[in-house]
Amino acid sequence: MAVETAAYTEQTDIQRDITEMVRQFADEQILPNAEHYDHEDSFPEPIVEQMKELGLFGVTIPEEYGGMGLDLTTYAMIVEELSRGWISISGVVNTHFIGSYLLMKFGSDEQKDYFLPKMATGEIRAAFSLSEPEVGSDVQGIKSSAKQGEDGKWELNGQKMWVTNGLGSSVVFVLMKTDPKADPPYKGMTCFITEKEPWVEVNEGDYSGLTVPPKIKKMGYKGVESTELVYDGYRCPPERVLGGEEAGVGQGFVQMMDALEVGRVNVAARGVGIAQRALELALRYSQERKTFGKPIAQHQAIQFKLADMATKVEAARLVTRKAARLKDAGERSDLEAGMAKLLASETGKECVEECFRIHGGYGYSKEYEIERLYRDAPLLLIGEGTSEIQRMVIGKKLLQRHKI
Ligand SMILES: Cc1cc2nc3c(=O)[nH]c(=O)nc-3n(C[C@H](O)[C@H](O)[C@H](O)COP(=O)(O)OP(=O)(O)OC[C@H]3O[C@@H](n4cnc5c(N)ncnc54)[C@H](O)[C@@H]3O)c2cc1C
Repeated sequence: MAVETAAYTEQTDIQRDITEMVRQFADEQILPNAEHYDHEDSFPEPIVEQMKELGLFGVTIPEEYGGMGLDLTTYAMIVEELSRGWISISGVVNTHFIGSYLLMKFGSDEQKDYFLPKMATGEIRAAFSLSEPEVGSDVQGIKSSAKQGEDGKWELNGQKMWVTNGLGSSVVFVLMKTDPKADPPYKGMTCFITEKEPWVEVNEGDYSGLTVPPKIKKMGYKGVESTELVYDGYRCPPERVLGGEEAGVGQGFVQMMDALEVGRVNVAARGVGIAQRALELALRYSQERKTFGKPIAQHQAIQFKLADMATKVEAARLVTRKAARLKDAGERSDLEAGMAKLLASETGKECVEECFRIHGGYGYSKEYEIERLYRDAPLLLIGEGTSEIQRMVIGKKLLQRHKI
């Protein structure tokens, strides 16, 4: 049961067509199968294969590299629909999308030619790695480092944490410290494009020195793996510094923070998608379940919950699309991306909780979809920067823009 919303009337013909296609895909392929993969915590390979056929790995990659060449706004609409089905499915494409953004914006011509065509088809998938066991929010505190050897190759050492698609990816965009003395520290950081064998725990040959420990056991967000990555003498050729050595050494922090801005729009779209699904489930259940002689939807207290949920979903969707449209227009959108991520992820959690309450005892049963949503939604409060970090970004930007 999809709920019609006014925002859809603001779509271009292409956006409307693609949104409808992805919604149908979510209804027919994702929603009926999500419970199985969630329960088994197994990678939803058949769904991912169909996404490749639909071209969903290359939505934002230019047509000259085999992608669809669509903008961030359209991508956010697609992510909303995928997440309405299951946020783990959008997790499979999210870090891939960030990787392709990094290549498109900062990559050398050789790097674009080599990676983008294979990424557009989904033949190879990308991961994005900043976090470490002791560092998440405070990215400048990373310890992993890279040192250039006499043969020009960089030797990478360190442990990374929480890498989404850490095992199944063929390429990891990873942030390393290359100048430990840099002050401030962010100026001494570089992004390396590290290649690896997909689904292999201990890499050998050209990729030796990169191992993937067993996946981290999680409360929700199952199906898509989150892993540590251990770089221990991994040797990276100089042409795999993002943008090339001349342009890229020392630029990694700035490049990756830029990518996080679009990543935040992506997580916001996921928040809208999960909130939308919670609203749909609540609308259906509240008209089926009866208490005191009438459907619970006829009790004003329940109607108010539905009203608040629908209002918040609409607001979160609008602010998410505004942030995406600003970025597409080439405007600074760090403030808006932060607001969208904050509002939409909190809306996702709130709507899921209200839907859970509306389900009464059944919300606590694994028989009902809301139980999965209840375990999935909290991730969005954390990934791509916590709500506290978004408030810090928003506050700082507000004061910059309104300096007296
Ligand atoms: C399932 C999952 C997938 C992930 N995927 C990836 C990935 O693909 N790549 C990747 O690099 N990372 C990934 N992450 C890591 C994620 O980005 C971090 O967990 C997140 O940035 C928070 O960092 P942290 O966990 O170290 O928390 P911390 O930074 O230790 O923060 C702990 C708490 O303190 C608060 N806090 C921190 N600093 C401040 C401050 N200055 N003021 C007020 N409060 C503060 C935080 O908001 C939080 O509540 C993933 C995480 C999860 C759970």
